[in-house]
This record gives sequence, structure tokens and C-alpha cells, in this order.
Amino acid sequence: MHYDVVVVGGGPSGSTAAMDLASAGHKVALLDRDGRIKPCGGAVPPRLIRDFDIPDSQLRARITTARMVSPTGRSVDIPIENGFVGMVDRADFDDFLRQRAAATGAERFTGTFLRIDRSTPTPQVVYRDKATREERHLPCTYVIGADGARSVVAQQEVKGGDDIPYVIAYHEIIAAPQPSADYDPNRCDVIYDGRISPDFYGWVFPHGAEASVGMGTGINGVDLKQATADLRAASGLQACDTLRREGAPIPLQPLKRWDNAQDVVLAGDAAGVVAPSSGEGIYYAMVGGRVAATAAQAALASGRASDLRLARKLFMKDHKTVFKVLRAMQDAYYKSDGRRERFVSLCHDIDVQRLTFDAYMNKELVRARPLAHLKIGLKNLAHLTGLVPEVHV
Ligand SMILES: Cc1cc2nc3c(=O)[nH]c(=O)nc-3n(C[C@H](O)[C@H](O)[C@H](O)COP(=O)(O)OP(=O)(O)OC[C@H]3O[C@@H](n4cnc5c(N)ncnc54)[C@H](O)[C@@H]3O)c2cc1C
Repeated sequence: MHYDVVVVGGGPSGSTAAMDLASAGHKVALLDRDGRIKPCGGAVPPRLIRDFDIPDSQLRARITTARMVSPTGRSVDIPIENGFVGMVDRADFDDFLRQRAAATGAERFTGTFLRIDRSTPTPQVVYRDKATREERHLPCTYVIGADGARSVVAQQEVKGGDDIPYVIAYHEIIAAPQPSADYDPNRCDVIYDGRISPDFYGWVFPHGAEASVGMGTGINGVDLKQATADLRAASGLQACDTLRREGAPIPLQPLKRWDNAQDVVLAGDAAGVVAPSSGEGIYYAMVGGRVAATAAQAALASGRASDLRLARKLFMKDHKTVFKVLRAMQDAYYKSDGRRERFVSLCHDIDVQRLTFDAYMNKELVRARPLAHLKIGLKNLAHLTGLVPEVHV
């Protein structure tokens, strides 16, 4: 059997790529090692639910308020107007996406990617079969590497793929408490506090009967479990049963190239694509899978491996500006508790709320209100240059 494309990794990026390619009539193999639930807060924006036809049954909660908490404990509740942030359970969500890809025509294989063998006229993906423990070969024309953060495909095949900077994120899945003044099952809390994370943030994300409580950091030596215990104590969640404890890297920087100019293109975390500031990766992984599938289709049609470059080009055309703004925000505001305090205080502004939430919900920077942009720009400048007095914490 010869496959047009072998997709390595059946997370959001790989399953989307496999589904798109199979529904366009291509012969596709989807290889996943299976057996581990991806550690993830599971927050997804409406744009993802719309663009990738996610059924209501996948949503464990619908979040209608985001609470931003500052180092001094001040909070701003931002109502999510005209919609909600969805919460998915990654065990069910990833399984749903893989099954949907298979129903569209992708052939599923369960095992661990080992390498690409090029000793034959066409490349062969070599993997260890999960059931038999034997090495198996999948001959193909192109490979999509969607095997997540610390991708083996990226490390072996794409320049820079072994050198992506990461934040390590850790969370605990807990049994959700009864609703109370501290805990609202329709509200996510985002905690900006150097004692919880010196360079990122902490979160409480409700998921119906469960909740994800965690934090991320790129600084070595931070005790992630202690920080999460402190966050649980500060949020009144220390007595809840802990169902799972898990951590994983979140890549911080998209690779300069996503393909090897020959037969491989990367997608999602494997390409280093997660939004700065928020660590949001599911939507961008699915878009990454979609553009990788488009690029592979173009290369299959033209016979030119150079068409694989289309994946990064298409992605950056739509998302480069938002990534730049989010990177600038992280660089400016995640540095000290004084800056974090200013950031939360900036969130009181209704225009800031509307613009940031529209950018998150719909993945577009709204162009309709140039004066609001100008006002926010000036406010930012005033905060960062110290024209607005610093809050000492
Ligand atoms: C603690 C934490 C919280 C997060 N919270 C959020 C959030 O709330 N919202 C959000 O949008 N993003 C969040 N993210 C980021 C998000 O989880 C990722 O960006 C997203 O899962 C990337 O999807 P992917 O398909 O590229 O990779 P993955 O989801 O990692 O999927 C990769 C797949 O490849 C498979 N695989 C890996 N290696 C091999 C191999 N050698 N052989 C075969 N198969 C292999 C794995 O089994 C997996 O199924 C969070 C991340 C972390 C760590």
C-alpha cells in the first residue's frame, strides 16, 4: 500500500490534516501512539467550534466570564459578550477527531514513530506497532509531522526542530466543588501573580464535573507542584479530590521553516505554534493541520516539494499580526508583579476587553474602531513608561 500522505500524530493538528486530505480523496494514513491523555486546559474559542464543526456534545462547559486576578488579589470580571468559551475534555475530544478522520477515509495505525527510511525510491515512515511491538513501514509521498511538542519528526527532519523554546505547564484535574463565591462553573480565572508563575500565569478552568487548575513557566527550578498547591489554596480548591496530575511543554516560538524542502511538513506544536501570552494551541494546531493538508495537496498536484512551504505562508498570512501583538504583550507585562498589576488594571477598560476578547473569540483584530486602538495604544504606553503611577506589591 502506498499512501499519498502519512500523518504522524493524531492530536488536533494531525487529525484535522488527515480528515482534510481524506475528504479531498487522498490515500492517508494516520499514525498515533495512543495511550496518554494530552495534558491541556481544554479552552477553545467559538471560531474553532465554528470552523471545525465541533458538536455541542464535546463541550463540557460554556464559559461566560473571564476573571483576571492581579498580584494584590484585585480582580476584573470580563463578561464574554455574544457567546462563550468552550471547554473540551482532551480524552474525548482527541478521540472524536481521530474517529472523524477515520470516518472520512483516513486509515488509522497505532504505534510510535521511529524514523523515515529513504533507502527505497519513495520514503517510508517506520513505526513500532503498539500491539505486536514489531517495526512496520508505511510507504508514502509526503509526511506531515503533527506529533506535538518535542516532536521526533521535527527533531529528525527540520532545521531548528530540536531547538524550540518551551514553557513547562503543569495542571491538576480536580473534582469540581459546588458553586460558591470562590468557584463559578461558568467562569475561568486567570491569575497573574509572580508567586504562582514568575513569567506566565496560573488558571482555574471549570470542565463540568471536573476542573483544570495549573500554571506554566519557562524558568528552571520553579516548583510547579508547590505553585499549583498555592494556587489551589488561594482559590479555595485545596480540599477537592485530585483526579490527575500532569505536565507537558508548551512551545513558545514558531519555527522559521516548517518543511524539509523534500517530503516533510510540520503542523501544530511540532512546528512550535502556540499563541504567546495565552498559551492557546488547540485552535492554532487545527489551523496548522489544515494548512499542512493544503500544502501537501498542492505538492501532490504539482510534484514540487517546494509547495510544502505554503503551509507556513498561509498560516502567517492570517495569524502573524496577532502573534506579534501577543508576544509584545507577554514581553511587556509578564516581567514583574508591578507590570502584572498594571496589566490587570488595563483590563478594566471596556475597549481593551472588547478588543482582546474579539481577538481571542474570532481570531481577528477588529478594524472597525481605530480610535479604540489608538486609545489602547496610548494607555499601554502610559503604563509602560510609568506615566500611570506603579502599583507597589
Ligand atoms: C498543561 C497545558 C494546558 C494547556 N491548555 C490549553 C488550553 O486551555 N487551550 C488551548 O488552546 N491550548 C492549551 N494548551 C496547548 C495545547 O494543548 C496544544 O497546543 C495542542 O494540544 C497542540 O496540538 P497538536 O495536535 O499539535 O499536538 P498534541 O495535542 O500534542 O498531539 C500530538 C499527538 O501526537 C502523538 N505522538 C507524539 N509522539 C508520537 C510518536 N513518536 N509516534 C506517534 N504518535 C506520537 C500523541 O499521542 C498525540 O496524540 C495547553 C498545554 C498544556 C501543556
